[in-house]
Amino acid sequence: MSTESTESTTQTGSCPEPLPFPVGPDFRRVTRQVAVRWGNRTVMIGGDAPVAVQSMTNTDTVDAIATAIQVKELSLAGSEMVRITVNTPEAAREVAAIREQLDRMGVDTPLIGDFHYNGHKLLTQYPDCAQALSKYRINPGNMGNGKRRDDNFAQMIEVACRHDKPVRIGVNWGSLDQDLLARKMDENSQRSKPWTAQAVMRDVLVLSAVENAQRAEQLGLPGNRIVLSCKVSHVQDLVSVYRDLSQRCDYPLHLGLTEAGMGSKGIVASTAGLALLLQGGIGDTIRISLTPEPGGDRAKEVVVGQEILQSLGLRAFAPVVVACPGCGRTSSTVFQELASSIQEFLRAQMPVWRLKYPGVESMNVAVMGCVVNGPGESKHADIGISLPGTGETPIAPVFVDGQRVVTLKGDNIAETFQGMVESYVQRRYGAAETVDA
Ligand code: SF4
Repeated sequence: MSTESTESTTQTGSCPEPLPFPVGPDFRRVTRQVAVRWGNRTVMIGGDAPVAVQSMTNTDTVDAIATAIQVKELSLAGSEMVRITVNTPEAAREVAAIREQLDRMGVDTPLIGDFHYNGHKLLTQYPDCAQALSKYRINPGNMGNGKRRDDNFAQMIEVACRHDKPVRIGVNWGSLDQDLLARKMDENSQRSKPWTAQAVMRDVLVLSAVENAQRAEQLGLPGNRIVLSCKVSHVQDLVSVYRDLSQRCDYPLHLGLTEAGMGSKGIVASTAGLALLLQGGIGDTIRISLTPEPGGDRAKEVVVGQEILQSLGLRAFAPVVVACPGCGRTSSTVFQELASSIQEFLRAQMPVWRLKYPGVESMNVAVMGCVVNGPGESKHADIGISLPGTGETPIAPVFVDGQRVVTLKGDNIAETFQGMVESYVQRRYGAAETVDA
């Protein structure tokens, strides 16, 4: 994490001589802290806990083995909680089996149950499911209307209290509380200058989340077991709604752009929305709702979430590879291939390195295409290589901790550099292991 950001955001006292180039996010919004537990694993959300990354499976929950395997894959990619759909009695019946399978595989990542329409029945009729889940996602907009909705909501909260579980009350643009919307639309029509329908809907989203959270507390659920979210599918709506929500309560907030979309559109839209909020100190846990490409890797949503947090300097998950974009000065693909293979190599090592080499996730590696910015950028990295551009002498200087240590040449530059990165990691981050041995 950037030390600069810490300095600039934690200044207190009477002095303040403003820093010339303040960097880092605004003060983190003060929230209650919610614990999500399974076995010996506890993931804290809110308070002073780091922003947590979560994800969601897209397997049929009835297929317990496939779901457990995907939860494991998402966990290995770094997902700190994984949500699964619980939509039918058949799915609810399999939740405990999924949990047991994960426990057998040594995966203690907390599971979150995603409920709509019939969650009150499923959680009541399948107590093993209620117990195997570490948190329940409740959408008050999908629980019926009027008294029926209130009773169903109360039933889910009662189960959460009985099983000692936290909940996320997640309202969604696509399933707004119709009673509240109608009431607010009526009130709006009485205004001398009525709001736009969009503004009323944003207000209803926020109100619905906060009022349902307050009701859950009245029903006996402690306030430190409630996380809120207001999911929308457009960036500006997301920012507007969460800025408002953040001022109306102190519950931790789950951020995500719902239906973000496929490919670069989904990544860019999610990054734009979440970065604006996180930079403003808003957000305690995130999920990136990418639509996977056919046959694509579900874990990509975890990687994107981690990269957003790491790019903002909020957390570090894996070493960063700084690579130039390439231009007419380098017509070969050698440096593109090296940048890509080093990035993949580093990420593949992380499940082991994370345990073996504490701190390695903050390492910077530079792979540059020519002499223009290559040596300079490589000196700034922990370890960097400057490849030869078109017409340059075919040599590749390597810099370690700012010093030029060797000049590589020949056909095995990529392999040699990868070996040097591995040795650097062992030397710099493996000290604790050597001492213990
Ligand atoms: S470092 Fe060299 S190859 Fe890379 S973008 Fe800059 S000028 Fe182009």
